[in-house]
Amino acid sequence: MERRLRIAAVVLVLAWFFVPLLRGSIPAWIPVLAFAALVVQFLIAGWREREAPRGKRGRAPLPEDVEEFGGPEWLEPVLVETASHQVWVPADIERGPRVVRPRRSLLPRLEGVLVLAGLVLLLILLPESGWRSLDEKDQRRTEARLSAEAARIAGHDARIRCDGQGEAVGIVQHADGVAEVGGTNAFLTPEICYRLYRLAFKGDEGAFSQTARAIAVLAHEAWHLRGEDDEGVTNCYAFQSGVGLGERLGLSAGTAARMMRQQLAENPIQAKSAPAYLVPPECRNGGELDLAPGRTSFP
Ligand SMILES: [Zn+2]
Repeated sequence: MERRLRIAAVVLVLAWFFVPLLRGSIPAWIPVLAFAALVVQFLIAGWREREAPRGKRGRAPLPEDVEEFGGPEWLEPVLVETASHQVWVPADIERGPRVVRPRRSLLPRLEGVLVLAGLVLLLILLPESGWRSLDEKDQRRTEARLSAEAARIAGHDARIRCDGQGEAVGIVQHADGVAEVGGTNAFLTPEICYRLYRLAFKGDEGAFSQTARAIAVLAHEAWHLRGEDDEGVTNCYAFQSGVGLGERLGLSAGTAARMMRQQLAENPIQAKSAPAYLVPPECRNGGELDLAPGRTSFP
C-alpha cells in the first residue's frame, strides 16, 4: 500500500515534468508538495519500523503474564542438556535477553533514495519553466505583441515590459502589474506575460481562471495608460475590453466573454481585501460605464 502510494506520487511528479499542459496549468508547488509528502511519509515509515517490536509474535505479553510465568528472565528461556534429560532454564541475565533481529531488507530503502536522487537530478537538468525558460527572441516578441494590444486600448503608444527582476511589479498596490496613469510604460509579472505568451503564440488556452486573470490584468494596465486612475472604473473597462483582447489573442468569442464575465463576477470577492478595486454600481449592462450600451451582453 505504502509502496503504491509512493509510485503514484512519483508518477504525478513525472507527469508534471513532461506534460506541458500540466506544467502550464498546475502551479509548481503542487507536485513539490506531493513529493515532500512522499519523502516525509517515507521517513516516518522508516522511523516507525525501527520503533515497532520486531518478529511475528504479535502482541507482547502483559507484565502480569510475565510475573505469572516466573518473571522477565523466563521470556527467553534456554534449553540446557544435562546428563539424563533436557531442561529449560531462564536466559542468563548477564548475557542479556536474546533478541532476534530479522535482517532488514535494504532494497525498499535504497529504492526511495534512488528515486529521490533521480528527481533532484531531473529538477537540475530540466530547463526552468515559465517566462525565464523563453529565449530572448520569444520574450521580445511577446512584449512587442502585448505592447501593441495595450496601445490599441490606450489609444496611444504603449510599452509593456515583463519585469523579470520584480523591481517595479509588486511594490505598488496591485501585485500583477503597474502602469503610469496616462503614460506609456507598464509592467506585468513574468507569470502574467508567460500565460499570455502561451495563449498568443502557442494556442494554449491554459487554465480558465489563470488566462482570464492574465487578460484582465493586461487590459487593466492598458486602461491606466489611457488615463483612467480610478481602480474600480479601470477594472470595469478592463473586463469589457478584455473580451476583444482575448479574442485577438486567440480565444473564441464565447470563451473570451465567459472569462470576462467570470472576472466581473469574482470582482467583489477580490475587492474584499482592497475595496478600491470594486467596480462601481454603474458597471452593468446599460449602466453609465457600459462601453457598448447598444449591446445586450455584458461584458
Ligand atoms: Zn490599477
